[in-house]
Amino acid sequence: MKFGGSCVKDGANIRRSAEIVRDYARRGCRLVVVVSAMAGVTDGILEALRCAEEGREDEASDFIEGLRRQHEKACEQAIKGEELREEVWRKEIEEIDELRKLLSVVAYLKEVTPRVEDYALSFGERLSTRIFWASLIDQGVKAEYLRGWEAGIITTDDFGSAKPLTTITYQEIRKRLNPLLERGVVPVVTGFIAATPDGVITTLGRGGSDYTATIIGGALKVDEIILWKDVDGVMTADPKLVPDAKPIPRMSYDEVVELAYFGAKVIHPSALEPAAKENIPIRVKNFYNPSVEGTLIIREAEADTVKALTMIGDAAIILASGVGSSEALSANIRLLDLLCRLGIQAIMVSQASSQANISIAIPRKDLEKALKAIRREFAAGELKVDYEDGICVIAVIGSGMRGRPGVAARIFNAVAGEGVNIKMIAQGSSELNISFAVKEDDGVRALRAVHRAFELNA
Ligand code: ADP
Ligand code: ASP
Ligand code: MG
Repeated sequence: MKFGGSCVKDGANIRRSAEIVRDYARRGCRLVVVVSAMAGVTDGILEALRCAEEGREDEASDFIEGLRRQHEKACEQAIKGEELREEVWRKEIEEIDELRKLLSVVAYLKEVTPRVEDYALSFGERLSTRIFWASLIDQGVKAEYLRGWEAGIITTDDFGSAKPLTTITYQEIRKRLNPLLERGVVPVVTGFIAATPDGVITTLGRGGSDYTATIIGGALKVDEIILWKDVDGVMTADPKLVPDAKPIPRMSYDEVVELAYFGAKVIHPSALEPAAKENIPIRVKNFYNPSVEGTLIIREAEADTVKALTMIGDAAIILASGVGSSEALSANIRLLDLLCRLGIQAIMVSQASSQANISIAIPRKDLEKALKAIRREFAAGELKVDYEDGICVIAVIGSGMRGRPGVAARIFNAVAGEGVNIKMIAQGSSELNISFAVKEDDGVRALRAVHRAFELNA
């Protein structure tokens, strides 16, 4: 089971999370625990790196001081035994000091490479997980603290979103964790962080501790993976944007992949794969409301027409039109290929049947890079390129829309009813989703209107 950032936001929550583990262990369950950094710490480290890089050393030092206080307090609340607490705190200080030194080096060099960033980010999970482990020991649970690589998670060196090397990772996880489980020991593993075969620290991408949990679950072929979060499960929409969103009792892996791909922060997009491969159910449960069933993610779930909505903000649309329609198709293909080579992920693509026009929604942060490259790649007059900034993409997801007429009409009526103009439309080939782009300022209004139109409200 995995405890997300909000479950370990302070020492009291760490203690309560550890009690949940203790209760499972007492009932004779064999379990592995994966822990995220304390809430806000990953973002904080990123910000401190930026401060150091820009020479704002005082702000980086303030961050370290805050980090020290946050973890010291967490130790006090989560670990009652004084000796154990002191021992843990000594190790925590050593690590915080290592991060402080790293920030000084960054301030000196005025540069953060992706490799350095991953190394710095690893401290978040290292600090929180040690406290979690100690809280378990404190409560009489036999447990062992392991960094991601010590648990066997070995990845490529794509810093910032490293991919697990599956064969070796699965072998190593079994080799390292099975003996512990056989002895009745609970492995407590840092989420999100791993290492290359040479031992260089990597991260699995933001939200990656979900992925750590499912990789371990897949390798050990567990009965169930539980992700503890701060929501009652996967909801019909992000409850922060749609307050009357409600939890969805059951979803298929495919539906959740679509949701995650279209930016629903609730689960890491790659996290479904290891579970789906072994057909292991994933349960998303609310740490603050544990008696609620949560969402069960399985291979086949009820095929409701529309189950969930999600929105990706901070997007832009590139509008390209070829000159003659015979050359336009190859120009469009070259354009997509170019974006792919630049590592820019198209959120959605739509092309008119004349083949002369193509619209591609991409993350706004990549817009400038894309436009520059397009100007370099295409000769003047070969491709007319325009763009629109300040866009968001809304995706409507549900396996039951496959082959059912009228879904798109209902979506677009709801949006039109709000007087919102749709800029671009696409349907996934799996017919699992329909996505459309609107002006960012209209996004939440459109999202809520579609949510109401499909009676998803609680
Ligand atoms: P953790 O880090 O604890 O694993 P996250 O914070 O990454 O959890 O994910 C939970 C958050 O995801 C929620 O607080 C919620 O705001 C957001 N979220 C976005 N879309 C959804 C959705 N469809 N269902 C549930 N939560 C969602
Ligand atoms: N701490 C990491 C993040 O904030 C990983 C996670 O929370 O899953 O992205
Ligand atoms: Mg997360």
